[in-house]
Amino acid sequence: MSIFLLQSHKFSNDNIEATLVCLKCDEVFKKDFPIDLEGQTIQFKCPVCNAVGEADLPYKKIEERQEFEEDFGEIEQENGEEFEDTY
Ligand SMILES: [Zn+2]
Repeated sequence: MSIFLLQSHKFSNDNIEATLVCLKCDEVFKKDFPIDLEGQTIQFKCPVCNAVGEADLPYKKIEERQEFEEDFGEIEQENGEEFEDTY
């Protein structure tokens, strides 16, 4: 099992366009992955030397996810306040 290092990446609407380095043959190559695979470790064959390896795919816009979690917290707090008012 080899490892592909993620050198850079770019998100399009449906794909993650990743630039990867194969640690077995040291070649840099580009590969598109479905956006559903974001944040996952995936296995595929190196298009250059055909070695099977793993790569860690990035998450799309981590900042947006954190904001989403904060919104959840606020909603819970608001509900709690409404409870107190009825008592
Ligand atoms: Zn390779």
